[in-house]
Amino acid sequence: MKKLTYLEWIKYLPKHDSLYSSSHCPACGSKGLSYQYFGFKGDDVGWKIIWCNSCNCGVKISRTKIPAESNSIIGDKEQESFLNAHAYLKLIL
Ligand SMILES: [Zn+2]
Repeated sequence: MKKLTYLEWIKYLPKHDSLYSSSHCPACGSKGLSYQYFGFKGDDVGWKIIWCNSCNCGVKISRTKIPAESNSIIGDKEQESFLNAHAYLKLIL
């Protein structure tokens, strides 16, 4: 398995969210990446994590614009419970 840097992930990621599910993981080569936006009330800038469900590798992008049609998790409690449920992910920050 390949160990990637933050920049390698960023360069690799598809330009549009709709392409994630058909993209291959840059670390292990499995098809299909998942993503989740996290936002703040009344703000369209938030953060996002992208990860592979096979090897659990992923990346966290700390400032990103949240598309209007995307679901984002808002609120400290909700964000914390999502992250707790996904604590096994190996995210590069
Ligand atoms: Zn993978």
